Amino acid sequence: MLPKWHILLGGLFTAIIWFFAPETSPIYLTLIFLSSFLIDFDHYLNSFIKNKKLSLPHALKYYEELNKEDERNYKRGIKKKRNFEIFHTIEFHILIAILGFLWIAFFYIFIGMVFHSLLDLAWLLYKDRFYRREYFLFSWLREKS
Ligand SMILES: [Zn+2]
Repeated sequence: MLPKWHILLGGLFTAIIWFFAPETSPIYLTLIFLSSFLIDFDHYLNSFIKNKKLSLPHALKYYEELNKEDERNYKRGIKKKRNFEIFHTIEFHILIAILGFLWIAFFYIFIGMVFHSLLDLAWLLYKDRFYRREYFLFSWLREKS
C-alpha cells in the first residue's frame, strides 16, 4: 500500500480513536498517527542498503521499479518474496508490545503499527500478493544461515 494511503487512513484511524476516547493525550494520539505510517521506514532503509542513495524520491522510484517487476512476475506465475522488512515482522510487533508494558508510549506505537500491518495484510490479500512478504524474523534468519 502506498505511503499516502497509510498517512490518510492513519489520520482517520487516529481521529476515530480521539472521537471515542477524547481523554487520550495528544502526544499518544500523535504516536498512533506517526507509527501508522513511519513503520514503512524499513522500506526506505532497504532502498538505501541496496542503492547507497539517501534520496527519498530515488527510494520511491526504486519501489516503483520493484512493483513493475513484481507485476511481470505475477503475470508469469512467479511468486517471489520481496525485500525483508524488519519493522513488519511479527517479532518486531511483539517486541514493541512488550516495551509497551514498560513504557506506555510504546503501547500507542504498537496500536499504530498493528493498524498499519492490518492495512498491509488486507492490501496484500486483495492484490493476491500475500506470498510477497516474510512475516517472521526467525524464518528469515533461518533462511539466511
Ligand atoms: Zn507497510
